[in-house]
Amino acid sequence: MRQITEPARKVDVVHETDVVVVGSGPGGLAAALAAARAGVSVALVERLGCFGGNITAVGVEGFAWYRHEATIEAGGIGREFEDRAREMGAAVPESQSLSYEIDSEGFKLVADRLVEEAGIRPMLHRQFVAPVMDGDRITGIVTESKAGREAILGKVVIDATGDADVAHRAGAPVNLTPRERMMAASVMFHLAGVDKRTFMEGVRADPQTYRDWGGGGEWTIETSGKEDDMFSPFIKKPFDRAIEEGLIPPHLNTIAGTWGAMHDSGELTYMNLIHLDGVDGTDPDSLTRGEMEGRRQAMLAIEALKRFMPGCAAARLRNFGMTIGIRDTRKLDAVYNMTERDVREQGRFGDSIGIYPEFIDGYGILILPTTGRYMQLPYRAMLPKKLRGLLVAGRSIGGDRIAHAATRNMSCCAVVGQGAGVAAAQAVRSGRDPAGIDLTAVQDELKRQGVRID
Ligand SMILES: Cc1cc2nc3c(=O)[nH]c(=O)nc-3n(C[C@H](O)[C@H](O)[C@H](O)COP(=O)(O)OP(=O)(O)OC[C@H]3O[C@@H](n4cnc5c(N)ncnc54)[C@H](O)[C@@H]3O)c2cc1C
Repeated sequence: MRQITEPARKVDVVHETDVVVVGSGPGGLAAALAAARAGVSVALVERLGCFGGNITAVGVEGFAWYRHEATIEAGGIGREFEDRAREMGAAVPESQSLSYEIDSEGFKLVADRLVEEAGIRPMLHRQFVAPVMDGDRITGIVTESKAGREAILGKVVIDATGDADVAHRAGAPVNLTPRERMMAASVMFHLAGVDKRTFMEGVRADPQTYRDWGGGGEWTIETSGKEDDMFSPFIKKPFDRAIEEGLIPPHLNTIAGTWGAMHDSGELTYMNLIHLDGVDGTDPDSLTRGEMEGRRQAMLAIEALKRFMPGCAAARLRNFGMTIGIRDTRKLDAVYNMTERDVREQGRFGDSIGIYPEFIDGYGILILPTTGRYMQLPYRAMLPKKLRGLLVAGRSIGGDRIAHAATRNMSCCAVVGQGAGVAAAQAVRSGRDPAGIDLTAVQDELKRQGVRID
């Protein structure tokens, strides 16, 4: 490939703070809030125009759809996201669980409010492009925006980009899932004009279960058995019918999945129906193809719903997510990489920063936390091996494939984020590197913030 050489240049330092959090999804937002509440100054940097990550930017509204009576959880900021959303009219009861479905638009306001209340410096519309390094220590970031290049300096940087962008560019070892083994990407959309009564009657007349995810054909799903007969807001039959009738080409038998909330206003939201294999979220050409192909498939799905799903005859597209939804890219090669055994067998760790129920969703496995089993989350899974001053939070913490199918879930990202935020604050206050902090002090602060760690 031809190359050019960029000239060296001076960059304005537009802000200096204790902790810089890059990315504001469930991981980054929780990290920023936790650090600020632990008493240090925080800047929250986000490339888009709102905080919330996949919740607000993609339209992923099912924050805790795994929750049942016996489910044991960490509490903390993740739970607060649901509670605040409910209080602010930005959540409705979720159809398959004892949780709330978060309204992706309303959560933009919830996140604004939380950021303001915590005194965090909000820095939207800035894309991280390069680390500022002092030897093997990261001391800040460079962003690109309409203002050009700007530097933001911090004593600790938390990478919550989902793709480990900061860790990768700063030279920390990361593992990128091979493209052919990545979880599918999804273009998400919301509908308007659905007749709620007829839709719900149709759902009740032919209730779907998690067993149906298997589909009996292309898709397979491993459960622990107890999930098989439980209700799932799953839709596949209209798309099978559309294939039979020639409306959808047969190779698109991947169109199927779940609906989120059926609102009184006729909006049917969080339509998680399009699954695109081979889209690499770290490659803009691949993302471009995924966005365009995903929109094309979404319109086929809507046509099938209009024809074959009760209540959807007058449905129309309300909106797509602001960006394609990516599930699986780089993961930190951390001091400790979590394993399948940890998430399946209730892993226990001395450096726990929170717990997470036995919920695995991905790579053809679905296990719901209906029994009270849970694991602990180790601090070392956020710590890079070769770099100082950096923590990684959210879905790109260290772990193998099946561990990722648990830790990628938004409420787990929030637990990890809160742990990272408190640890970063502890590093700042003690003048130590995140690798050398007093973990008992971190655990004590997390308990003070309402997190269950054991
Ligand atoms: C289609 C889809 C459906 C899903 N369904 C569910 C579900 O039902 N329940 C569930 O719990 N999980 C679900 N997930 C998984 C979950 O949404 C993610 O794993 C989770 O949101 C990851 O959180 P995060 O904080 O690590 O990153 P994200 O939520 O991805 O947030 C990362 C943030 O960083 C910003 N960012 C990225 N790069 C940069 C940069 N270079 N500079 C500045 N900002 C940057 C992004 O704009 C974004 O706001 C789903 C995922 C997808 C894609």
